[in-house]
Amino acid sequence: MKEYHLGLIGYPLSHSLSPIIHQGFLKSCGLAGHYDLFPIQDDQSKEEKLQEIIQRIRSAELDGLNVTIPHKQNVITFLDGVTGDARIVGAVNTIYRKEGKIFGDNTDVSGFLADIERLIALEERGTAVVLGAGGAARAVTLGLIKKGWNVIITARRKEQAQQIVEQLAPLATHDVKWVNIFIQSLLFTELESFISERVNLISLIVNCTPIGMAGYPPIDLIPKTVQLNKNIKVYDLVYNPPETSLLKMARQLGLEGLNGMGMLIEQAARSFEIWTGVTLPRPLRISISPMIEETS
Ligand code: NAP
Repeated sequence: MKEYHLGLIGYPLSHSLSPIIHQGFLKSCGLAGHYDLFPIQDDQSKEEKLQEIIQRIRSAELDGLNVTIPHKQNVITFLDGVTGDARIVGAVNTIYRKEGKIFGDNTDVSGFLADIERLIALEERGTAVVLGAGGAARAVTLGLIKKGWNVIITARRKEQAQQIVEQLAPLATHDVKWVNIFIQSLLFTELESFISERVNLISLIVNCTPIGMAGYPPIDLIPKTVQLNKNIKVYDLVYNPPETSLLKMARQLGLEGLNGMGMLIEQAARSFEIWTGVTLPRPLRISISPMIEETS
C-alpha cells in the first residue's frame, strides 16, 4: 500500500492545524501516510532550504507540500510551473508532482468560495469590502470577482491595495461574465465615510488581515461609529479564537458572521485531492475545536 509523505513549509508553524486536518483526511480515505511540519525561516538560508525540500518532491521522497507565510511567493522560482488560480493570484499554497515535473497551485480561492457559501448566497452578486491587501486578500478578491461581485480593497498602505486592483481589474473587464465589476482600493481611514455613504450597497465584509488572531494586539478593524446595515454579513479568515473581535462586534450589532475554519479545511481538502487524486466525501468532517483552545 502506498504511504503518502506530505507536509507544510512556512514559519512559524508550531500552532498549525494542518497535520490534524490531513491525518483526518488520510484516515477517512483509508490511506496510509503522514503530514509533517518543515519550518523554514525567512532568512539568508531560505533559498537553499526551499530548493532542497522541493528536490525531495522531485525525487519522490515527498508527495506534496502546503506552503504558508512567508513563502507563498518565494517558492515560485523553484517550480517548473504554476497552475490554476496560482497563475492569477501569484502565490502558491500547494506544491505537487505531475509527470516528473513540480507545480504550484493555489487552493485558497476555491476553499474560500466553498465556505463563504455557508454565509451568503454568492449568486446574489453584491459589493464586498475586503480588509487587508496581502496574499489572502488577493485570493478572496479573485474568488469574489469570479462570482461577479464588486470588491473594495482596504489597506493601511494604499499602494498594496492598488496593486491588487491593477492586477485583477483587467480580468474583470476581459471576461464577458465579469463585465460591470469594479474593484477599488481605499485606506482603512477612508472606510468609515465610504461605508456611511454606501450603507445599502455593501453586503459582505471579509477580514483578510491577521488582526483578531490570538496574541495579536486588539484593533478595531471597523470603527465603532460606522453604521452598518443589518443585512451585512461578516467573514473573518482568522479562526483562532473562534470568535474574533470583528465577529464579536458583528454579533453585538446583530449581523451574521463566520470565521475562517471552514476555509482552512476546504483549502486543505483541495490540496489533498490534488496530491492523492481521491475526492473527499462532502460535507467534510474534521473535528479540531479542542485543539484551537490548546493553541490559543
Ligand atoms: P499577508 O500576505 O501577510 O497579508 C496581511 C495583510 O494584513 C497585509 O495587507 C498587511 O498589511 C495587513 N496587516 C497586517 N497587520 C496589520 C495591522 N496591524 N493593521 C492593518 N493592516 C495589517 O498575510 P495573508 O497570507 O494575506 O494572511 C492574512 C490572514 O489570513 C492571516 O491571519 C492568515 O492566517 C489568514 N488566512 C487564513 C486562511 C484560512 O484558510 N482561514 C487562509 C489564508 C490566510 P502590511 O503589508 O502593511 O503589513
